[in-house]
Amino acid sequence: RAKAAGGNRFELADAEADARAITRHGLTTALPAALERGEFFIEYQPLVHLDDGTVHGAEALVRWLHPQHGILGPDRFIPLAEHTGLIVPLGRWVLEQSVRQAKAWQDQLPGSAAGRPLRINVNLSPTQLHHPGLVAETVEVLDRIGLAPGALCLEVTESALIGADEDLLKPLRQLAEMGVDIALDDFGTGYSNLANLRRLPVSVLKLDRSFTQGMQQHPADPVDLKIVEGIVSLAHSLDLAVTVEGVETGAQADHLRRLGCDTAQGWFYARPGPPEHLHRLSLLDAV
Ligand code: C2E
Ligand code: MG
Ligand code: MG
Ligand code: MG
Repeated sequence: RAKAAGGNRFELADAEADARAITRHGLTTALPAALERGEFFIEYQPLVHLDDGTVHGAEALVRWLHPQHGILGPDRFIPLAEHTGLIVPLGRWVLEQSVRQAKAWQDQLPGSAAGRPLRINVNLSPTQLHHPGLVAETVEVLDRIGLAPGALCLEVTESALIGADEDLLKPLRQLAEMGVDIALDDFGTGYSNLANLRRLPVSVLKLDRSFTQGMQQHPADPVDLKIVEGIVSLAHSLDLAVTVEGVETGAQADHLRRLGCDTAQGWFYARPGPPEHLHRLSLLDAV
């Protein structure tokens, strides 16, 4: 009996693995039509200044409203789009929508964020970095829509830049020279080579959520506090701004403010949502 049950368990595990593979395959083949049919949409998550809580801007986070599976998060389909190369047109679409949205915010909310124009953060995948049209397309979109390059921040993960040679860094360098901010996303999760930072054309370090998690408990993990303190002081000495992600409680925000982090993002401030949410938050700033 035990053996039979074991056998069933294996069959069940196999069946689940098969189902996952079938879904993955189905999602992969459905991606191009989904882009054409307009099944993707973007949620925006506010970034706030830690010192006074005013809105700094927002990060664009893509979702897929799948006709059968409902709303799928990027972790479900970005790796598939990376794999097939669809990430290039999808990423172009995300950039265009996000730049339009930032422009709309700037036009509609002139007095927001203590007089500083609102900014937009857009994620870039490694494949997009290798795409030869990246710089020209980005410049074209900014020009056509009329957003200043300084209002755009492109987020690239640390792991995407590991071992990057000059060829890969060149497009980022060109964008940085035009005034586009480059952020190193999920910083601290890879094999962070601190000495390597000087070589990269980045102006923002985006500290991974794992660091903020250690500050959720009482008392906060003293090692995490020390590490973040060290990273902030190194970043500032290299003229990099520090953003933290995954701030879920006021206690975390207090620690991060005291440690000198510049901007923050997380459920404590706002969940990712429709663009109108940012209107509400920045109108509060203006009051
Ligand atoms: P990320 O760039 O590190 O984005 C932050 C993720 O943390 C988002 O997950 C966000 O919803 C989540 N988050 C924000 N605040 C909190 C919090 O307080 N607590 C917790 N537990 N989570 C929080 P999401 O939207 O599922 O995105 C996952 C990843 O997908 C992103 O990680 C980013 O790497 C990627 N991604 C999203 N949109 C795009 C895109 O347009 N293009 C590319 N290439 N990648 C994207
Ligand atoms: Mg990001
Ligand atoms: Mg991140
Ligand atoms: Mg992350």
